[in-house]
Amino acid sequence: MKPKKGQLIIFSSPSGCGKTTVGKALLERNRDLIRSVSCTTRKPRKDEVHSKDYFFISKKEFQDKIRKGEFAEWAVYNKNYYGTLLKTIEEGLKAGKKILFVIEVQGAEKLLEKHPNALTIFLLPPSINELRRRLIKRGKNTPEEIEKRIKRAKEEIKQVGFYQYKVTNDDLEKAIEECENIINKVK
Ligand code: ADP
Ligand code: 5GP
Repeated sequence: MKPKKGQLIIFSSPSGCGKTTVGKALLERNRDLIRSVSCTTRKPRKDEVHSKDYFFISKKEFQDKIRKGEFAEWAVYNKNYYGTLLKTIEEGLKAGKKILFVIEVQGAEKLLEKHPNALTIFLLPPSINELRRRLIKRGKNTPEEIEKRIKRAKEEIKQVGFYQYKVTNDDLEKAIEECENIINKVK
């Protein structure tokens, strides 16, 4: 039997739109799907676990990895570094998995340059007001941080053009199903 080919799935949305929530559901429902664990210099939130949610590393460690060429892509978001290790992609592809990259727009563009066959999905909020409500409800950012994320969201939404699929996360279950159908198109 021919070995299974791996597939990259780039999944972006403005912060607070619901990509973590939708991503978790997709991972629970698809055994073939794994999530790429990124490196970040951001401090872990209360419920986050090192090496499961992110590899939480220092700025110095991150910059060393940039220098050594260990990242497939990296970006700065709200003064913190975020990046995908080349190793993570290689291992996922070798295992013939579908790999979900929950990353922001700049990194997505860089990754797509290197992997033009990647599937790209952008999750849109029903409105900016609803996005603000979700960020407030989530309770993980200060009002100042929330306004920064809203500003960035408006910029990111302008760049949805290069994503192959756009899904609006209004009704959560519908959004999950829509993303699942897109992912299932890849065999
Ligand atoms: P992101 O990963 O894009 O920053 P999250 O998945 O953390 O966003 O979601 C932000 C908040 O919005 C969370 O409190 C989550 O429970 C809520 N949320 C996600 N999707 C929906 C939806 N369709 N309707 C209402 N609330 C939602
Ligand atoms: P958060 O701090 O909310 O976890 O993430 C902030 C933003 O960084 C989100 O848009 C998230 O998708 C993005 N992000 C997470 N990991 C990476 C990564 O490895 N590379 C890039 N470019 N963005 C990432």
